[in-house]
Amino acid sequence: MNQSWRTKAACRGLDPQIFYPGEDEDSTPAKTVCGSCSVQQACLEHALGVREKEGVWGGCTERERRRIIRQRRRTA
Ligand code: SF4
Repeated sequence: MNQSWRTKAACRGLDPQIFYPGEDEDSTPAKTVCGSCSVQQACLEHALGVREKEGVWGGCTERERRRIIRQRRRTA
């Protein structure tokens, strides 16, 4: 899989902890960064493709990604 999108990631150099909030922590800071990221869709598709289990990827939490996968299965 082409990973060149990573070089344009808005999260490069930021504290990774932001993107791995705990169960009761707010994911808004990570989502805010993702919202301004030019490779958000590629990042999200990567996370969906490899079934990333943790963290905010492409502006989506693990729970949100599971929902997307379920929706795609239903409409496939
Ligand atoms: S969408 Fe978010 S997690 Fe993905 S590369 Fe961009 S800033 Fe990083």
